[in-house]
Amino acid sequence: MSGLTKLVAGNWKMNGFSASLGELKAMIEGAKTLSGVDLAICPPATLAAQAGWTLKDSTIALGGQDCHAEKTGAFTGDVSAEMWADIGAKYVIVGHSERRAMHGETDAVVSAKASAVLRAGLTPIICVGETLAERDADKTVEVVSSQLAGSVPEAAGKASFVVAYEPVWAIGTGRTPTTAQVAEVHAMLRQALEKRFGAHGRTIRLLYGGSVKPDNARELMSVPDVDGALVGGASLKSADFLAIARAAA
Ligand code: PEP
Repeated sequence: MSGLTKLVAGNWKMNGFSASLGELKAMIEGAKTLSGVDLAICPPATLAAQAGWTLKDSTIALGGQDCHAEKTGAFTGDVSAEMWADIGAKYVIVGHSERRAMHGETDAVVSAKASAVLRAGLTPIICVGETLAERDADKTVEVVSSQLAGSVPEAAGKASFVVAYEPVWAIGTGRTPTTAQVAEVHAMLRQALEKRFGAHGRTIRLLYGGSVKPDNARELMSVPDVDGALVGGASLKSADFLAIARAAA
């Protein structure tokens, strides 16, 4: 066990309309009875400002799902890390597998985005994870360690950041790796971070993500070096998100 306070971060992806703020309010109410766990919700950009006001003074932090590496400029449709900071965000997810696969984001792009998040004074949640073909070819450790090396910028050596291990084949599929498979990757991630950053590497939270649900959260959260969860689908419903948060507390 790493002994770090666990973080449960909800990634709403391209889901949520104004009416979803009701779910957020229910999460805030439910989270009042929880201690010993950090919580965050990453809404779509259209809800970000309203979500920021709703979450203000609550125990749930606001997070972004992505950002541009530059601070401002002619980048139509993009949002910068400083803009996330401006509305009170604490975290920004970078390198989610959907961004890597659908927007061609390389490790170098992810690293630049993570640097931008640090520049803005926020905490990047840097995602890594293998595809099913890579797992079947026994390349999981090779792929994930290479993503980690390429996606975590040098500047992170003195800053707070989070790594999320998300096997691509487990995201939104209802399939999860065995606890032994999760333990193997998280041990490798911890070792790699300690090798690169020394004692600082022991302070980095390693989240597991991919079909985390109320009924499997407790088991996944008990795996050594699992310091929380990045939750997609189950973070859209307050009851499910709170049940996962309780399992991590
Ligand atoms: C995710 O997309 O980060 C994720 C973990 O999704 P889900 O929980 O729906 O598998």
